[in-house]
Amino acid sequence: MSLIRTREESYINLNPLQTGGRTNAEVRLTAASFVDGYSVCDYCKGVLHLIEKPSICELTKDLAEFLGMDEARLTLGCREGKFAVMHALLSVQGAIVVDSNRHYSTYVAVERANGKIYEVENTGYPEYEIRPEAYRWVFEQVLEETKKPPELALLTHVDGDYGNLVDAYEVGKICQEYGVPFLLNAAYTAGRMEVNGKKLLADFVVVSAHKGFGVPGTIGVLAISEKWRERLFRKSIKYPKKDIELLGCTARGGAAACLITALPYVKERVKHWNEEIEKARWFVEKMEALGDIEQLGIKPTKHDLIRLKTPLLNKIAQKDRKKGYFLYHELEKRGITGIKPGQTEWFKLSTYGLTWEQVKYLYGAFEEIKDGNRSATI
Ligand SMILES: *Cc1c(COP(=O)(O)O)cnc(C)c1O
Repeated sequence: MSLIRTREESYINLNPLQTGGRTNAEVRLTAASFVDGYSVCDYCKGVLHLIEKPSICELTKDLAEFLGMDEARLTLGCREGKFAVMHALLSVQGAIVVDSNRHYSTYVAVERANGKIYEVENTGYPEYEIRPEAYRWVFEQVLEETKKPPELALLTHVDGDYGNLVDAYEVGKICQEYGVPFLLNAAYTAGRMEVNGKKLLADFVVVSAHKGFGVPGTIGVLAISEKWRERLFRKSIKYPKKDIELLGCTARGGAAACLITALPYVKERVKHWNEEIEKARWFVEKMEALGDIEQLGIKPTKHDLIRLKTPLLNKIAQKDRKKGYFLYHELEKRGITGIKPGQTEWFKLSTYGLTWEQVKYLYGAFEEIKDGNRSATI
């Protein structure tokens, strides 16, 4: 029996994890032709980032430039990039400062690298904001406890819980002041909006390409500034072309070829980021006007990942025989998916890449559900 997935063809998919990784037809063609194992290794030059056909060597140069950094390598994803930096920089139980809106993989990467986490708290309900100034307080705390500055600081540029964009430049300035290397996690920003690592004073930028660059996974980018080249990309003594922190070669398959195909399209799409924010803001405004619905996170939102607290829908769920699952089913009937089944107290969604017509249709669906007009389907 064939195993086929048609979510992007058959539905409006709202899953924030997936909207920026939606592939276009051209990328799908590349994916199909590079589907075999080690397909990018036909003309291997000894290491992945030097392969000329397909031109992964150009790709890594382009990616470094696109992210405003000096040098880049492919990784297997954002977390592998973070781990490589932490592994290279942290001593055993060395202090690393991270924001409390961080992804779980940030935490796990620190554990694997044997570091010690210090967290920058968010401001709590309803905005859960990370204020750059709070990095200073935690740096001071580390200084007091360990008598030296942290060995690394990480900022989640936009987090996956609230879609909050943090002013990375302000965090970068504080890092410079204390002499702390600055790792920017751009999983939810790079590929959507312009991210220039140097302008944001970052030493390292990590990216998830299957989240933000419209390619299949798993693949990411680690981009660094010149001064860290020796440290991060140190070579094996026995195999002088192989980067130790990357175990030689990382994304050695079709995803790397797909990134070559996708990059020109991504370079174009980041120019239209303002329209994405407009759509997200319009949707939030209309949803809140339904009453008893509140957007959490900073307002007005600066990202397509939207977290809504929805007592309105929860009340309807209590009266429905499907309980919490009613919303999922009502949306599915209307050709909409991507919200976690069973969830009605709050949920996350992303409007990224939808047309205005689709965003309006989406709002219309919620309006109908509120009005109990549940039979009107497409
Ligand atoms: C999605 C996400 C990740 C994980 O990305 P991978 O490429 O799958 O490792 C890491 N950090 C943040 C902030 C994310 O949103």
